[in-house]
Amino acid sequence: MDRYSKILNKDKREIVLLIGNGCKWQKCKFCNYYLDRTRDEEKQLKINKETLSKVTGEFGVLEAINSRKYF
Ligand code: SF4
Repeated sequence: MDRYSKILNKDKREIVLLIGNGCKWQKCKFCNYYLDRTRDEEKQLKINKETLSKVTGEFGVLEAINSRKYF
């Protein structure tokens, strides 16, 4: 899974897909993002740290999404 990307057309920004405990709702028919989860905090930290290390700040905007909350 590609957890880091850049949006280059409208509203240029970097985007990261982080991993968390997972969505508890799991009822939105269009979504399978809740499958990207782990309760292993060490694993979360490792994956998220690795993903965030790719951020360069080149656009001054970062969109961060994790498998539980959008923020
Ligand atoms: S992650 Fe968001 S969109 Fe997906 S099932 Fe949960 S609440 Fe719905």
